[in-house]
Amino acid sequence: MNGEIELSQVTDQLNSGILLLDLQLNIVSWNRFLAVHVNQKLEDVKGKLIFDVFPELPQRWFERKVASVIQLGTPTYCSWEQRHHLFELPHTRPITTDSHFMAQNCSFLPYEQEGKLVGICVLIEDVTDVCHYQSQLKETMKQLELANRIDGLTRIYNRKYWEEALGKEFARAQRYTSELSLIMFDLDHFKKLNDNYGHQCGDLVLIETASRVSSLLRDADVFGRYGGEEFGIVLPQTDQIGALEVAERVRAAISNSPIIFEGKKISFSASVGLATLNSEHKRYEDLISETDSALYRAKSSGRDQICILQKFNKCS
Ligand code: GH3
Ligand code: MG
Ligand code: MG
Repeated sequence: MNGEIELSQVTDQLNSGILLLDLQLNIVSWNRFLAVHVNQKLEDVKGKLIFDVFPELPQRWFERKVASVIQLGTPTYCSWEQRHHLFELPHTRPITTDSHFMAQNCSFLPYEQEGKLVGICVLIEDVTDVCHYQSQLKETMKQLELANRIDGLTRIYNRKYWEEALGKEFARAQRYTSELSLIMFDLDHFKKLNDNYGHQCGDLVLIETASRVSSLLRDADVFGRYGGEEFGIVLPQTDQIGALEVAERVRAAISNSPIIFEGKKISFSASVGLATLNSEHKRYEDLISETDSALYRAKSSGRDQICILQKFNKCS
């Protein structure tokens, strides 16, 4: 039995590419997998420089890789995560992937004859499926992470995420003795609005409120839905005067223009509480509780207004 023929019978059935190069990077041989995917016969490429057959190869990178194998006499490796592919081979998957080309893991092995290095063997493994499922998994994780942070109705932060963000900003402001203000607002007579116009109308008002308020905040501000029709805005690096300006803009954005629902003009308003961090606030919950008391005061003083409790009781 001829050993060489026997081996090619095996390598030609592999679902991976085997490419043999001499030390000048001319093609010596390849298996059937490569002939099929490149759509060229071995006779037509034998003796040709690898970069003439695969002009897409990053030449300098490839030469460095090969040089390290030659110098050290040890294999080296390049995974699809480092480079999606080296060789532009079409993949044959029926699934849709991000790339037209087969994702590849490539190994560069020293090829010796009688103890002497005579060439490089490149193994090309098709990992399109792995790459595809990995990116699907990443995308799913991203969506899950987002869903975990976002309120389903208003698309702003949910209470859990918002409170965590407040906790972090509170700790940061205490550490660096920087300003921090908190605004909380609650829609007025919202139960009545639901009763008069229906829950769907109430939902629209919540969505519209979130959208109007979002559009007037800075990137650093953290806006979330605290409960049913109650919202919170964390304002880092903002003192009481700055926060009062924001609160007034929020109040006005909500009450200044009605929404149209089923041809009817629906007016709505919000009561706003505001507090600014001081040395009496030991935990972020203390800041929430002061803001909430100010909000309660705004409600009891007639609604559609802003209240601050700190030191003096003030409503505007
Ligand atoms: P106040 O001015 O004192 O805040 O009165 P209010 O009616 O707004 O307050 P109350 O707490 O009595 O009612 C809040 C209402 O908000 C009751 C609840 O059904 C409604 N609500 C909470 N979440 C949602 C929601 O997601 N969609 C709709 N449409 N309504 C909601
Ligand atoms: Mg309310
Ligand atoms: Mg409420």
